[in-house]
Amino acid sequence: TNRRATASFPASVKLENVWRRFGDLVAVRDVSLDVAPGEILCLLGPSGCGKTTLLRLVCGLETPDEGRILIDEREMSGPAANVPPEARGVGLMFQDFALFPHMTILENVAFGLQAMERNTALAEGRRALERMGLGAYADAYPHVLSGGQQQRVALARAIVPRPRVMMMDEPFSGLDPRLRASMREETLAILRETHTTCIIVTHEAEEAMLLGDRIAVMRGGEIVQAGTTQEIFDHPADLFVAEMMSEINVVPCKVSGGVARGPLGSYPSRTEVSGDALMCFRPRVVRFSHEATAIPAQVCGTRSLGDETVVELGVEGIDTPLLARTSAPFEAEPGGWVGIEVPSEKVHIFPANHQVPAS
Ligand code: ATP
Repeated sequence: TNRRATASFPASVKLENVWRRFGDLVAVRDVSLDVAPGEILCLLGPSGCGKTTLLRLVCGLETPDEGRILIDEREMSGPAANVPPEARGVGLMFQDFALFPHMTILENVAFGLQAMERNTALAEGRRALERMGLGAYADAYPHVLSGGQQQRVALARAIVPRPRVMMMDEPFSGLDPRLRASMREETLAILRETHTTCIIVTHEAEEAMLLGDRIAVMRGGEIVQAGTTQEIFDHPADLFVAEMMSEINVVPCKVSGGVARGPLGSYPSRTEVSGDALMCFRPRVVRFSHEATAIPAQVCGTRSLGDETVVELGVEGIDTPLLARTSAPFEAEPGGWVGIEVPSEKVHIFPANHQVPAS
């Protein structure tokens, strides 16, 4: 079979109202999701929210209790079909990958190419290993490799058959930061070149933003919000999503008549929320100001991140210090007073009852 040719026609993946229960536990709750041909979708969520189960459902390693899963408009799971995993053309790279200990690294990588002529398969395998920076280990056995190197071999093994659809479960976890960055870039480049449709599971927002054309945020088996990084970052559906994406200040307030009032003053509220609410804003939107209208804040502490300073600020009426991040030089000492402003267009108002992302 010519796998290269198939890889150039990317496949769509569709989930329709998919449920998966384990006894009383609902691991996946009424999930609907469309992944476009060639799209990279990152599934972001805390531990136990159902990410792995969702991937296993697409692969056919789990069967939905209700709903349908389609690849290229063809039913894989559902009332009309239950296509076995090996017939779905879905590649897999799981967190707890295992290499075959009695095979060389090259044989491991070429394992998925058994339908190919052997020398061609080995040449493909060697090329993939070289891309992963492991060409020199082709004839070695897995036990001589470090954990991170083994992970790269597993990545090469998953990618080399060029599946039309790829499921990756935390493929870069446990790698040191530099290796992680280069593996991400290399994986992304290969997925793009081969137009592979891909779902990548991660619990790190930064990774999801770096890799995903779109992000789907999960909580308790449900997809809470799906969209581009910018859409989700600028318009989080709720505080859970906002906190999942990046650190955020949360200040209690009261909303009435479209105005939120709290320790930081009054802000227009564009939401339906009324009564007890939470005013939320990112540390980077806090401005330091000498204007008379600025809110007085006492510096509790500062931390330099080299090109940025994180400032902890005490404001009357707020229990926990606010965080501000500034790239401008920051002179004030702990104990000193500064003025701050929070631009109203950067403030999100959410209802007061919310769930904190657990990890
Ligand atoms: P993590 O990030 O920790 O891997 P996750 O988001 O991938 O978590 P899942 O592994 O999909 O979460 O698990 C979702 C829920 O379903 C968890 O509560 C888990 O304990 C439960 N679960 C998963 N598989 C099974 C199973 N085979 N039998 C019983 N419960 C299961």
